[in-house]
Amino acid sequence: MRFPGRSGAVRLTPRDPLRTIAAMKFDTLVAATPDQIWDALRAEVRAGRRRAVPAEETLGCVLARDARCVRDFPSFDRAVMDGYAVRTADCGESTTRLRNVGLIRAGAGPIGSLETGTCIRINTGARVPPGADAVVMLEDSHELADGFVEFDGQPSARQYIDQKGSIVKAGELLVRAGARINVGTLSALVAGGAALVDVFLRPRVAQLTTGDELVEQGQDLREGQIHDSNSIALEELIRQAGGETVMFGRCPDDPAALRASLELGLANELLCITGGLSMGTHDLVPGVLEELGVGWLVMKARLTPGKPLRIGRAEAGCWVIGLPGNPVSCAVCFHLFGRVLVEGLQGLEVGKPAHLTGTLEADMPAVGDRFAYRPAEWSAGLDGEIRVSPLVWRGSGDPFGLATANALVYRPAGAPAAPRGQTVQFIPLDLPR
Ligand code: AMP
Ligand code: MG
Repeated sequence: MRFPGRSGAVRLTPRDPLRTIAAMKFDTLVAATPDQIWDALRAEVRAGRRRAVPAEETLGCVLARDARCVRDFPSFDRAVMDGYAVRTADCGESTTRLRNVGLIRAGAGPIGSLETGTCIRINTGARVPPGADAVVMLEDSHELADGFVEFDGQPSARQYIDQKGSIVKAGELLVRAGARINVGTLSALVAGGAALVDVFLRPRVAQLTTGDELVEQGQDLREGQIHDSNSIALEELIRQAGGETVMFGRCPDDPAALRASLELGLANELLCITGGLSMGTHDLVPGVLEELGVGWLVMKARLTPGKPLRIGRAEAGCWVIGLPGNPVSCAVCFHLFGRVLVEGLQGLEVGKPAHLTGTLEADMPAVGDRFAYRPAEWSAGLDGEIRVSPLVWRGSGDPFGLATANALVYRPAGAPAAPRGQTVQFIPLDLPR
């Protein structure tokens, strides 16, 4: 199969003789541009499992349906100041004296009607008694020795009272479907009376690194071995994107071992695999996945780093993202596309990640024929200026190239050198969705 890298992506149509893989369900994008990949993901990725879950367990989940207020809020007329509940009809323009008949505390149950000529001490959050239609602030009143209370001026009707349903009415929209539930969302849902909340569940992700040379971190290395840094990075990136790594593996470049691991991995909603995708004699991953019925949406990307990227889906519905083994390529491809998949499976809008604009702090070289995303640091100064400093680029195999990165600077294919001070687009890596 030929990959027409220079001329951009090619769609293989169903009639195309190159479209030979039996299980293929997509029009495969070959050497796809980042925009083509995001468009294809938008067209294909749908939210996964959803369930009604107790409200307190939903933090970080995405709402699967509009959340509405279950009952009026507040559900009773309540005082918003410490003071005295009064009948405004009893109050004059100048000084008013009323007999204090007791105290209503927050949380107190039903009480009798406030009679003409009386007032009652009331605390913030307490239920205003029937008959009372205003609260006079404690600071505006004087308690007299004989059990009477005195204050000046006519209180206006409903002052310092939140009437039943005055903040939100039963049935009113609180938060739209598709929002990620944060602390504020959660407290609104609880205040609005939600006990169970309909959310998308965290996608179950199988995570697999491949390569005979890989050794778990902390273990001694023999000649030719390296520590498996991708798995550590990916597990955290998947978690940050809202996914849950439910299967974890490190697999040698051996067809039988790969097949066994990949088969298990495909029982999840997403299989995230690194390494073994390229042209080496032991890059076996795509072939084994195809044997297991995976069809490709994306075969290779017009991207640097990240050319060997693969995205596909198994017969039973599990998405597959094949990330290059080189640590920078692996992380860049996850940030660009893996995150989109994890987010899409949990009901967030799928598409091109937000690109911000900032000023380059250092020169950048001209770009070749692939779209480039380079590790960088971005910051917003006290002057409000957004600045972007590209990090030293020592190639996609440099495991230290991302050590301090919090951004990826975007440079279009064929772009000329960009001098310091030029405006560039970048993807911030530290903004949650
Ligand atoms: P591959 O994509 O399998 O051709 O690997 C490309 C390069 O990335 C090789 O130098 C690998 O040793 C390295 N590599 C592959 N997997 C990992 C990993 N999990 N952690 C760190 N480096 C890796
Ligand atoms: Mg390899």
